[in-house]
Amino acid sequence: MRIFLILLVLCVFQSQAKPISYYFSPDIEFDQGISKPSDILGYEVGEWHVRHDQLVRYMTLLAEQSPRLSISTIGYSHERRPLLLLSATSAVQQQKLESIRQAHVARLTGEKIKAHTPNVIWMGYSVHGNESSGSNAALLVAYYLAAAKGEEVKHLLENNIILIDPAMNPDGLARFAHWANSHRGQVLSSDPAHREHVEGWPSARTNHYWFDLNRDWLLLQHPESRARVAQFHHWKPTVLTDFHEMGTNSSYFFQPGIPSRTHPITPDRNQSLTQKLAAYHAQILDSEQQLYFTQESFDDFYIGKGSTYPDVNGSVGILFEQASSRGHVQESINGDLHFYRTIKNQLLTSLSTFAGVTALKSELTAYQQAFFSQSAQLASKEKYHGYIVEKGLDAFRFEQFAELLQSHHISAYPLTKGFKTAGKEYQIGDLYIPLQQAQFRFIKAAFSTQTDFEDNTFYDVSGWTLPYAFDLDFSKISSSWGLKYSDTPWHKVPFEPISVQPDGVYAYAFEWHHYLAPKLANLLLAEGIKVRGALKSFTAQTQQGKHTFSAGSIVIPAGLQTSSNWVARLTELATNLEIPLFSIATGLTPQGIDLGSRLMSPLEQPHVLLVGGKGSSQYEVGELWYQLDRHLGLAPTIVEQHRLGKLDLTRYTHIILADGRYEQVDNQAKSAIYSWVKNGGVIWGQKRGAKWLVDQQLLKIETVSTKEMKALFKTDGLPYSEREALAAKQRIAGAIFQAQVDLSHPLAFGFEDATLPLFKNSTWVMKHSTKPFTNAVKYTSTPLLSGYADERNISQIAGSSALVATRYGKGAVVAMADNPVFRGYWYGSSRLLSNALFYANSI
Ligand SMILES: [Zn+2]
Repeated sequence: MRIFLILLVLCVFQSQAKPISYYFSPDIEFDQGISKPSDILGYEVGEWHVRHDQLVRYMTLLAEQSPRLSISTIGYSHERRPLLLLSATSAVQQQKLESIRQAHVARLTGEKIKAHTPNVIWMGYSVHGNESSGSNAALLVAYYLAAAKGEEVKHLLENNIILIDPAMNPDGLARFAHWANSHRGQVLSSDPAHREHVEGWPSARTNHYWFDLNRDWLLLQHPESRARVAQFHHWKPTVLTDFHEMGTNSSYFFQPGIPSRTHPITPDRNQSLTQKLAAYHAQILDSEQQLYFTQESFDDFYIGKGSTYPDVNGSVGILFEQASSRGHVQESINGDLHFYRTIKNQLLTSLSTFAGVTALKSELTAYQQAFFSQSAQLASKEKYHGYIVEKGLDAFRFEQFAELLQSHHISAYPLTKGFKTAGKEYQIGDLYIPLQQAQFRFIKAAFSTQTDFEDNTFYDVSGWTLPYAFDLDFSKISSSWGLKYSDTPWHKVPFEPISVQPDGVYAYAFEWHHYLAPKLANLLLAEGIKVRGALKSFTAQTQQGKHTFSAGSIVIPAGLQTSSNWVARLTELATNLEIPLFSIATGLTPQGIDLGSRLMSPLEQPHVLLVGGKGSSQYEVGELWYQLDRHLGLAPTIVEQHRLGKLDLTRYTHIILADGRYEQVDNQAKSAIYSWVKNGGVIWGQKRGAKWLVDQQLLKIETVSTKEMKALFKTDGLPYSEREALAAKQRIAGAIFQAQVDLSHPLAFGFEDATLPLFKNSTWVMKHSTKPFTNAVKYTSTPLLSGYADERNISQIAGSSALVATRYGKGAVVAMADNPVFRGYWYGSSRLLSNALFYANSI
C-alpha cells in the first residue's frame, strides 16, 4: 500500500514533467557530449519556471561545451543580472565571427563585399517577465543549436548567425519565476482563481522600476534597452523575433498584425516578407494541430516596441504571442493549458523562423540592403533638408536628447555659426539633423508630428515626437543656404571640474533651469547645507562677471553654513552633476532682489510619501519612483492605500498620488490627510489622483468626467460593427498636446519659454480654474501637436487647465490632468514635479 502511494505521488508529480523528447522530433539526434537543460536545472524544462541564475549557468555551460556557440554579457539589468547574448553558427564561422559581422554591416552601408555572408537572426525572449514561456523555450533553442546533429541544423548554422537574447528582462523573469514557483504544489492547480495565476502588485511584466521594456526601444531609459539597442546596431540583424504571451483563453499569434496599423514609414516589402515567413509558422503549428491567428489584435505602429523598432531600422521584426498558462497549468476555453505546451509552441516558431529565414535568405538580404540604399533617394524627394533642434539653456536635457539620437545611430551636427532662416535665428551649438543619412526613415518616425491616420485605433501611443518630450524647440529646415555645421557628429564634451575660491565668498549660486538643479538642491539639503530659492530673479556680480539669475535659482549663503567642509562638498556635488557654480562676493545686487531678501525662500528637503500598491497604476507609480530616485536623488516611501490611515504623516513633506482608483483610502486616512495638508503638507495628484483631490474637496474646480466626454459622441443608429471604431475615437491612447506655462508661477520656475508639450492619455478634464493665480499650466486653444485625438475631445481640452496649484491651510494642493513623467523620457514636463517638491509651498 505504502509503495503504491509513493508510486502514485511520483506519478502525479512526474506527469507534469515532459522529457526532452516531448519537445523535439524523434528524427533529431543529439550530441551526447552536450548537457541537456535538465542536467543543470535538476528538473525537466517546463516542470518549474527557470530562475535567471539557472538560465545563465546553463547558457554559459553550453557555450563552453559547443564550438558552435559563443556567449557574451552585453550589460546588466538594474538588479545587476547579466544580460546575455549568445551567438550560434557553424564551428568554422564561429572562429571568424567578428569579420563576418563586419562584412555584414559593411554590405548594408553600400560596400561591395564579395564573400558570402550569413544572415543574422536575432531571437528575443520574454521582454515581459511574466510571459516566461519564451525564456524557458530559449533553453531548448540553445540546446538544439548546440547539440542537434544532421544536415538540417548544419545547413542552418552555415547560412545564419543566430543571436539569442534569452531573457530580455531578467529582473521581471526572476520576479515571476519566484511567484509561480513559490505557489506551485506537488499537485498542480489549474483553477484560474489560485494565487499562482493572479499576480500581486507589481506584476512581473515590468522591469525593476516597473517599466514596460517593450516600450523602451525608442526611449532607452533603462540599461536593458540601451545594451540591446547597442547590440542591435552592432549586428544589424536581418530578422528579429520577439516572443510574448497573451490571455489564457487565446491561442497563438504571429505577425503580420492588423495591416492598416503598420507604421507608414515601414516599407510594404517588410510586410510581404513577414507574410512569407508566416507560412513557415503556420506549417509547423499545423503539424501539431495548434490553434493560431494573424492580422488581428496586434499592431505594428509604435516604433518603441521590439517587433516594430526593427521594421524602421531595416530589419524585419516579428511578434509572437502565445496564450499564457501564467503559472504551471491553467484552465482555458481550449482545455487545460500547460506551461510545457506554451514552451513547446515558442520552440516550434523559433524553429520555423530558422527554416523561413534560411529559405528566404536572398530575398531578406536584398530587402535589408535596399532599405538603406534607398535612404538617399527618399531623402532627396522630401521638401525639406532636415531638422534643427535648439540647444536652449539646459545642457543636461539637451545632452540626453543628443545621446538618444546617437544611440539610434542618427548623426546630428552642432552648428558652427549662427543661422537665420524663415524668420528664425539659430545659435552655435544647436543641432542640425540632415535627412540625407542611412537612418532617414527612423528620423522621420522619431520626429513625426502626424495627427491624421488611416486607422485611428491604437493599441499604444500614437504620438511620441522626441524633441517635444525633451521640451526642445525644433523646426524643419527647407533652405540650407548659409548653414554651417561641424564635420563630425555631436559627441559629449567632457565637463571641466569646478574650482571655486573658498575665500571672500558671500554666497554661491546655481541656476534652476539645469535639469539636475533640483537634485543638487536635494543632495545639499540632505547633507545639512542650507539652501535658499530665489522667488524672483536677480542680477549679481559674480566671479564670472555680471549674471542674471532667473526665479527659482539657488543661493547658498556662506554665513548660514555650519559644517566645515561644505564648500568642498558643494563643488564636488556640482561637478558630479555638471552644474556650473557661481561665486558672489556681496549680498547687494545691482538688480532684483538682494541675497538676504525675504523672497530668498529657505528650501526644505522633501520627504515623499508615494501611494502605491493595488488600485494605483503600477506604471505611473514606477515612473514617479524612478524620477524621484534616479533624477532627484530621493528615496520615496511607497505605501499601499489601505495603510495610509495608520501612518504618522508628519514625517512627510509631500504625498504623491499617481493615476489610480483610490477606493481603499478609508475615512481615517482622509481626515489625517486633511489635517496634514492644513498644517503645511503638499499633496500632488495626477489624472485620477487629481480627481480624488477634487472628489475630496481638497481642490475646488469644475471638471469634465470621462463619462461626460464619452457622451459627446452620438451613438444613435451606429451599427454594431462601429463599436471598436467608436471606442477608439472616444479615448486618447497617447498623444502630445501643447500647453502654456505661466512663467511667473513658482511651479514654472526653470522653464525657458511659455510653451510646454505634454503627454496625454486621459480624457478627464479640469476646466480653467476661476480662482485667480491657480492655473499654472493650461492647454492652448489648438492644443494637439502630435498623435491622434478626436476633434470633440480636443475642443474640450482646449483652454482647460493642465496643472492647478492652490493653497489649502498652510499646505498646498497640486493637481495635474496628465502624467508629467510618462515612460521616464518626458524630460520637459517632469520639471513640474520637481518644482512642486521645492516650490509648492511658496505659491
Ligand atoms: Zn508581452
